[in-house]
Amino acid sequence: MLRRLGRGALDVLLPPQCLACEAGVDEPGSLCADCFSQFTFITRPYCHVCGLPFETAVIDDEVVCGACMKDRPAFERARSVFAYRDTARTLVLKFKHADRTDAAVHLAKWLARAGAELCHDADCIVPVPLHWRRLWMRTYNQSALLAHALGGLTNKPVVPLALVRTRATPTQGGLDRAQRRRNVAGAFAVKDTSEIAGRSVLLIDDVMTTTATADSCARALLRAGARAVDVLVLARVPAPGT
Ligand SMILES: [Zn+2]
Ligand SMILES: [Zn+2]
Repeated sequence: MLRRLGRGALDVLLPPQCLACEAGVDEPGSLCADCFSQFTFITRPYCHVCGLPFETAVIDDEVVCGACMKDRPAFERARSVFAYRDTARTLVLKFKHADRTDAAVHLAKWLARAGAELCHDADCIVPVPLHWRRLWMRTYNQSALLAHALGGLTNKPVVPLALVRTRATPTQGGLDRAQRRRNVAGAFAVKDTSEIAGRSVLLIDDVMTTTATADSCARALLRAGARAVDVLVLARVPAPGT
């Protein structure tokens, strides 16, 4: 009851806001009806490997998209919570630019739901690192915030510094899949393999544009002896034309 009183007092001072806009909501960490209606949550059917949603129904749950069939990523499975567009984009950008770091704990609940199977199979959680220069400018790594919040929810250990960027990569904008792959090839490394070797790793990022960054991270983790790598992200950039 005390906790409820406390919550009530806090709501008077700071009424809970929608995660994506300033509208008031009943429950902290939720979306207002307007924003909710603009979100596209990613559900089956999707590519069994990269999680890209299919537009048409498929019978087989393990169907793989053309891109993964041609050039299979190093990770086992990637899953994402929602499509990166409209209001979802606003939410991610607010979170990224530190207005709403309080959202991490709520967003982690969405990750845990969308990636339940992946969380279950993981031995540890590793965030995609920012290059130190970007980290310095932005002061925190949003993927690490998500990883920590998810670790707290799932009771899985988080290894925040497992991966390091060995070089800054030019931004990925305007590059195609092959160019992005080349852009980030060898950009990540594992310095201390002791917490990675023999483990199933769940890699966390905020946005997945193509599979290039996740693939490059997975390669580094596998080189360090990881048994398998899965990827869980908040937002997935939809394939062109969808
Ligand atoms: Zn809203
Ligand atoms: Zn795929």
